[in-house]
Amino acid sequence: MADYHTVEKRIKLWTPLWKSKSLPRCKELLWRACNDVLPVRAALAHRGIVEDAICPLCGEECETVNHAFFACTEVAPIWFSSPLSLDFRNVPPSFSLKQWLSQVLKEGDEWFIDSVLTLLWAIWERRNRWCFDQQWYPYDFVLRRAASMATVSLLAMDNEATRTDQLRDGRRDRWRAPQPGTIKINVDAAVPAGSVMGYGYIARNSLGQVLATAASKWPMATSVALAEAMALRWALQLSLELGFFNVEVELDSKLVIDSWRNHQQQASYLALVISDSVFISQSFYRFSIAHVLRASNMAADFLAKFALSSYCFVGIEEYPVGLETVLSSYLVSS
Ligand SMILES: [Zn+2]
Repeated sequence: MADYHTVEKRIKLWTPLWKSKSLPRCKELLWRACNDVLPVRAALAHRGIVEDAICPLCGEECETVNHAFFACTEVAPIWFSSPLSLDFRNVPPSFSLKQWLSQVLKEGDEWFIDSVLTLLWAIWERRNRWCFDQQWYPYDFVLRRAASMATVSLLAMDNEATRTDQLRDGRRDRWRAPQPGTIKINVDAAVPAGSVMGYGYIARNSLGQVLATAASKWPMATSVALAEAMALRWALQLSLELGFFNVEVELDSKLVIDSWRNHQQQASYLALVISDSVFISQSFYRFSIAHVLRASNMAADFLAKFALSSYCFVGIEEYPVGLETVLSSYLVSS
């Protein structure tokens, strides 16, 4: 019988889980794993439902909950190549999923908890696809599945933060500096009538200092939304090349942000470009994306038009003449 203190401790353990903004199916899976109600082979064999307790993925060891989620040689590389870079390849036999997860719930921030939950979910999904449909998901596919679910909750957090900020200062028409340690990326596309489009990029830190700017041109006529999506993909790749791993991305295309959330349900070239971007976004340590009003994206807009009228470039801590006016207008309004 659990006494009062044990019950209280258990409630404390699960509170952060139920409070987290992760998807309910992810939370539920973790809860089931920790309460030994998942149908792993070892549990089924123990109840006499199956004879063989061997892991269906590696075919080498007994499939316990620990094995299925961490220790399996077919699973550990997923954690290692995830944005969390966790190395479970040589966990000692004493390693306990329950203990580790309770530590994550107690000490991890929202992003970390969400990343762990979505990875657990994607790993379990992959195991089941193999067991029941004989479909084998490669590692990168599992990471994409996890990231697509994690992004949803990051977006939700982000929107909430933006809303609170807007309520607080009552205006949304100016650029806002990111938190210290985070780099804000603004990106935009310019699509004049004709057969060319321009991309603009600017990265700034929490002091509003310009870390990098870029302007690029692409010889293709397309819809505004597709141009914005292609600019976004270009901006994400560029950010990684520049070594910006902790980023908040802002763009003024609501369509692109909507498509980011639903790209898996869409069949279009736009959705394909967004899928690419979602995939690239996994390489960041921390990533969020938000829609902003055009008025707070003017620097990127300036650079996208600059690409069309002048030349293409990538500048480290420098920017073309003329951008100062746009940058200082933020200072005036803030
Ligand atoms: Zn295994």
